[in-house]
Amino acid sequence: MRRESIIGQPTPRSGFEALSVYDGVVGPCAIDLSDNTNLWGMPPSAALALENFQFAEVTRYPSAYAAELKASLARHVGVETSMIVTGCGSDDVLDAAIRAFGNPGGSLACCDPTFSMIPVLARINGLSVSTSSFDAEGDISVDSLLSGRPDVIYICSPNNPTGMNASVERIEAIAIAFSGLVIVDQAYAEYSSTSLLPLVSRYANVLITRTMSKAFGMAGLRIGYAIGNPVLVGEVEKSRGPYKVGALSSAAAIAALENDLPWIEQIVSETLSIRSRFVSRLSSLGYNPLTSDANFVLVPVANPAEAAKRMLEAGIGVRTFANLAGIGGALRITIGPWEMMEKCLASLEAP
Ligand code: PMP
Repeated sequence: MRRESIIGQPTPRSGFEALSVYDGVVGPCAIDLSDNTNLWGMPPSAALALENFQFAEVTRYPSAYAAELKASLARHVGVETSMIVTGCGSDDVLDAAIRAFGNPGGSLACCDPTFSMIPVLARINGLSVSTSSFDAEGDISVDSLLSGRPDVIYICSPNNPTGMNASVERIEAIAIAFSGLVIVDQAYAEYSSTSLLPLVSRYANVLITRTMSKAFGMAGLRIGYAIGNPVLVGEVEKSRGPYKVGALSSAAAIAALENDLPWIEQIVSETLSIRSRFVSRLSSLGYNPLTSDANFVLVPVANPAEAAKRMLEAGIGVRTFANLAGIGGALRITIGPWEMMEKCLASLEAP
């Protein structure tokens, strides 16, 4: 079709001109340590559920709000089913939550650096973004997050990309002082030593988001969820809309939740011991990785693009950050089986 024959190019909503598509993908490589997924594979019962899936079911819509999956997640987490909302990955749940509680023209407050999709999701929903720095100990700053009178406050703990936790006391201080929605993103909850779950029973404005993309090893199936007060969860579910979790994804997720928790726990504990071994090897090479409570470490480097290029030539993909606030250039490296980490170490020249 010739260009001039296209008539009436519509203009997207205002603010869209500043948005671009996600660019965090490293591309094909032998060992991909770029996206914090479970490099041990998917849970065995989930794989079996996919193999045994009755394809006749595909002609029908799945449960509108993933009723069975919600019940299974509720049992796993230890809350009422009415406190769970699911989504097509936790990205979808975050998007729905921001849309439900953020007024177009209002703002979302978050720390910098944090999960790169958050400013995008805020802007897509018509909110501006105000960022605040972490304090000298790496904790969140309560006053700074509250100061711009936002509609939504987003806290990521453990935080992507730094791997550090926000303190429970400060999250609580925000929940008490703030009347809007407090999102606590716990995509890496399974690896974390800090339990934040009690917050959802104490504060009606706290929504914890989680995912089956990381420790649960099912990023390709796109299953995320959130835990919160039933009224809060109901609003997020309205905003999310029906049929967001496919039947196959649901079947695999339920199988993993019912049968594979010991498998996941074992991999999490292996991940944590490999992380400490990896960190001490990095330190002996002269690097200063940040303390991490997740399945990745952030490693400040002078020239991340150059370092990542060298690593990619050796078949290792990592996530690069050109200039993070308060940190500078850095590489974010996912923790996988030790053989992968040894190859990664070999590809990292001394800083
Ligand atoms: N939150 C954080 C902090 C993440 O790192 C990610 C994935 N990179 C997500 C949410 C989204 O994960 P998903 O949509 O796969 O559940």
